[in-house]
Amino acid sequence: MKYNARDIKRTTPSLFDVENDQTHPLTTHLLEWYDEHKRDLPWRHTDDPYAIWISETILQQTRIEQGLDYYYRFMSTFPTYQDLAMATEDEVMKLWQGLGYYSRARNLHAAAKSIGDSFPTTYDEVIKLKGVGPYTAAAICSFAYGLPHAVLDGNVYRVLGRYLGIPEEIETSKGKKIYSQAANYLLSKSRPADFNQAIMDFGAIHCSQHSPKCDSCPLIDGCYAHSVGQIADFPVKKKKLALKHRYLYYIAIEKQHYTYIYKRTGKGIWRNLYEYPLIELEEAITVNQLLLRDDVKALWGKQNEVDSIAVICEDKKHLLSHQYLHANCLVVKLKTKETHTSAEEEFNETTSPLLAPEIPELKSLYGENLRCVPIDSVSDFPLHKLMTIFQEQQKSLKR
Ligand code: SF4
Repeated sequence: MKYNARDIKRTTPSLFDVENDQTHPLTTHLLEWYDEHKRDLPWRHTDDPYAIWISETILQQTRIEQGLDYYYRFMSTFPTYQDLAMATEDEVMKLWQGLGYYSRARNLHAAAKSIGDSFPTTYDEVIKLKGVGPYTAAAICSFAYGLPHAVLDGNVYRVLGRYLGIPEEIETSKGKKIYSQAANYLLSKSRPADFNQAIMDFGAIHCSQHSPKCDSCPLIDGCYAHSVGQIADFPVKKKKLALKHRYLYYIAIEKQHYTYIYKRTGKGIWRNLYEYPLIELEEAITVNQLLLRDDVKALWGKQNEVDSIAVICEDKKHLLSHQYLHANCLVVKLKTKETHTSAEEEFNETTSPLLAPEIPELKSLYGENLRCVPIDSVSDFPLHKLMTIFQEQQKSLKR
């Protein structure tokens, strides 16, 4: 059988019209390349499905350099899925803090709790775990158990899309099906785990998005995109949606030695993470305009007087997958009543959470998700990226 990338593009199924005992040249070249260039990563030295699950979940949307630290900390804090299942959600979220895409942590936790006496051992069982999709299920099953399931991630789409010249968009169900068939067809049946690692490493290191090393590429003879000079056009993707701009104004209200944070709930970003009271607007306004707004003043109520206001963060830009956040943060210090300044009460205010000053307006706004906490202990809670930036800023202003 002679392989020709142009034929494959015209009639993708022709890729599969080969005898079972034949190995496609792409498979052979990728395994040879991998044997020489594979990266030494900690989760490649284990066949523990739990460790592989954790590493694969951390590495989704995260660079390896950033993910390594999280992987080590996660595995030393929760070495087994039973340890993870017994943790509180706040403990899990705290460990995940800074990684983003927090639903991954919530799903890991929920899935760990759902596992019985032993970790599932088949693809059909693994994919039923909450948050585990086809990619992670294939990775766990091939890396831990040597089962023949091909992975599909951004690197695999790029290598296959370019090499085979697949014209379908990768986001469509037809596109996904074609890629999945191609990847499973090309998967080495004798070395499925190595093939999966090989094609992902090759896409990350050699056939990278912006600077593929075509001149030294072992696949160059069969590569469709290279042969027609259209490397940047593959894999074919849908046009990106316009970014949505959101203008966020966080108000850190401080009274005595306390401040107020609440846990985000419901759908949307940063669920179950804590943040300061928030006013979100459709467009940017100045601090003076903000402080004239009734909904801002209503946060601390008429019974409280403002002592001082400090702007600690102005128009901090933060990019998420489909959103462009413009974040601002003000610290509003409220006056303390004369009657609260006896030596005994001063002592109690700093040591006893029972005397934390309630603000009924905040309580009615955030209900049971509101926490009134000592100012210095905000960072003990699981926070999202913007909140950690505000915390650092507040600390540096106090120094
Ligand atoms: S020839 Fe270039 S585009 Fe084709 S697989 Fe190799 S590195 Fe990627």
